[in-house]
Amino acid sequence: LAKKGGHHTYRIYSPSANVETYKLFYLRNELQYALHNDQFLVYYQPIVQAGTDEIVTVEALIRWNHPVWGIVRPDEFIPLAEESGLIIKIGEWVLKTVCRKLREWHDAGYMVKGSVNLSLTQFLQADLIGVIERILHENGLDPEWLILEITETAMWVQKDKALEKIAQLRALGITISLDDFGAGYASFKNLLEIKPDTLKIDRSIVKNIPEDKDSTEILTSLIQLAHRLSILVVVEGVETEEQKEFVLGLEVDRMQGYLFSRPVSEENMQKLLERTAKPEIETALGKERRK
Ligand code: C2E
Ligand code: MG
Ligand code: MG
Ligand code: MG
Repeated sequence: LAKKGGHHTYRIYSPSANVETYKLFYLRNELQYALHNDQFLVYYQPIVQAGTDEIVTVEALIRWNHPVWGIVRPDEFIPLAEESGLIIKIGEWVLKTVCRKLREWHDAGYMVKGSVNLSLTQFLQADLIGVIERILHENGLDPEWLILEITETAMWVQKDKALEKIAQLRALGITISLDDFGAGYASFKNLLEIKPDTLKIDRSIVKNIPEDKDSTEILTSLIQLAHRLSILVVVEGVETEEQKEFVLGLEVDRMQGYLFSRPVSEENMQKLLERTAKPEIETALGKERRK
């Protein structure tokens, strides 16, 4: 707001706190408006089976299609949506959109699972289970097709509550995936306590392999540990053939990254499915669960 330069321009000496407050207020309204005017989109990114490159899961990644700013990525607005509580409604919209799409894809013979990111507020929401059950039911989807991605931060706030919530979701038949592992604290204690079905190793670890020996050691050990605990491993952020080959050598289960595909619109995801999915094999894979 403060203009610099020439003497005919205004200089508004407002404390930056006020500008921040205004920005927050403005953005919050924009988010609310976006929700009621269909400005959100779900993009999908494939998660492929190691060795065959078949698409077994699609991760839902929200986008905000803003009339002026264009496509806005989630890191730009999810924190604010979380802070203002709007994330509950936005998250429910994502779940509905994904389950409806999965229904369509399953009807067309593309038996992929859908993986949805849950923010902390959404995860701790009292009626989360009820909301999910209703959405699954409305779309005639078995819970085994839904994967929920949570992060370790869930354990910092209300650990007992988080573990109870995870147990309830798993009892329903939903797959729990621990996202971004290794990006922050990467506590083994959390990993053991959560005992997720799937562990997603953060792309920051994969970024510098195989040159960086530390990352390579960490990745190797993490995969071994997860497998000993019967946890399926997804390596995120695979961008090069070299990384793919290296990770394959570590006997990872699944991979995700720009090498396979960037997150794409639902139309383009469907094209990817049409091109690569083999319905019969997909069904068998969908039923496969490590225990
Ligand atoms: P995430 O769940 O860890 O999703 C993976 C992010 O890494 C995505 O960013 C994806 O575009 C990006 N990515 C995937 N492969 C590669 C790669 O090979 N290289 C690089 N450099 N990046 C890659 P995106 O779509 O911007 O999403 C950012 C984060 O926003 C997500 O991280 C997730 O935490 C959050 N998010 C996305 N959608 C939702 C949602 O519906 N609800 C909530 N609560 N959070 C969401
Ligand atoms: Mg994720
Ligand atoms: Mg992740
Ligand atoms: Mg992330």
